Amino acid sequence: MVYTDYESQLAVLRSKGNYRSLSSRIPQGKYVIAEDRTLLNLSSNDYLGLASDPLLRQDFEAWVGKRSYPLSASSSRLLAGNYPVHRQVERQLATLFGREDALLFNSGYHANMGILPALANKRSLIVADRLVHASLIDGMRLANAPHIRFHHQDLDQLERILVKESPKYERIFIVTESLFSMDGDITDLTRLVALKRSYPRVLLYVDEAHAFGCRGSHGLGIAEEQGCIQDIDLLIGTFGKALASMGAFVVCSSLLREYLINTARPFIFSTALPPYQVAWTSFLLERLATWDDRRAHLATISHQLAQALCGEEKAMGATHILPWVLGDNATCLQVARELDEGDFYCLPIRTPTVPAGSARIRFSLSADMTEREIATLSSLIQHMHRL
Ligand SMILES: *Cc1c(COP(=O)(O)O)cnc(C)c1O
Repeated sequence: MVYTDYESQLAVLRSKGNYRSLSSRIPQGKYVIAEDRTLLNLSSNDYLGLASDPLLRQDFEAWVGKRSYPLSASSSRLLAGNYPVHRQVERQLATLFGREDALLFNSGYHANMGILPALANKRSLIVADRLVHASLIDGMRLANAPHIRFHHQDLDQLERILVKESPKYERIFIVTESLFSMDGDITDLTRLVALKRSYPRVLLYVDEAHAFGCRGSHGLGIAEEQGCIQDIDLLIGTFGKALASMGAFVVCSSLLREYLINTARPFIFSTALPPYQVAWTSFLLERLATWDDRRAHLATISHQLAQALCGEEKAMGATHILPWVLGDNATCLQVARELDEGDFYCLPIRTPTVPAGSARIRFSLSADMTEREIATLSSLIQHMHRL
């Protein structure tokens, strides 16, 4: 009896094309392996192809050598789980970004659901882009502060909100992503910085999950590319995507770091990242600046696929996340099936993950894909366009 409701809810999800299930396909390098065939994986966030690079793993094992890094931290960093390597990576990040300090979190999800509740209060206002990631939305929901969402990338609307609301609050958090996970578009951070200069009491909170590793001359992200690292109060990056590790960080002032250590519940009440994992992150961060060739190739194939999807003109400025917006969930599922039959593993992104009527295939590219593979995918897409 107590389960009946869950059963019927699942049936509703199935009928709406929203049912989710785990795939039995096994990821292997840039592919996923099905029972009888191998598909190119266009649903992974291994943007630089580092996670699938066996040589890198060998180099790491040599780099570790005789040092011993435990596979578990066994407690929160505030108890007995604080290893030198945790602090070492934070200092490494601070140096890379040229900022005062950084704080590690166990994941981007932990960071985003912890930071706003820690820093915002009733005298704060949170103003966020409507399409920010679920983890940021959960952070807003948990925070004891009012929030307003503005239309995606509508910085004019954001400014109108600031004009009207900023006198009423002690502090305003502007929350956005630098490279959006579903649309692959880039935020004008320089304009946000200008807004921050005109409205005192504004803090900028920028999630670079999809850009960290992939963009900027040292791979630090869009803030590096747009020359405004110093102006972002809370810059979030994750290690689970391009960096091929696990965990996340916020780059911020020493004061905010200290405050978060004292107040961010996911930091305080969760076991710290395993030192071995953090050592791998450190090893990768040491090499991040040297992967220009991977970033350049990623840009090349992104442009190539964007041309097939939306034509030469619109392909300018395309990123490694490319949406193919198809409309309703059913059409999207059908297109995903056809791509699958062509040996391309592309996941349908459905409503309600994206707004109604904008169900899409989201292609995410990886630097270990060849131009030839993207050409094959492009011709399949063009063939489907014609149908
Ligand atoms: C993936 C993602 C996160 C979550 O990061 P994890 O480390 O995977 O928990 C946070 N923000 C954005 C924008 C993301 O895309």
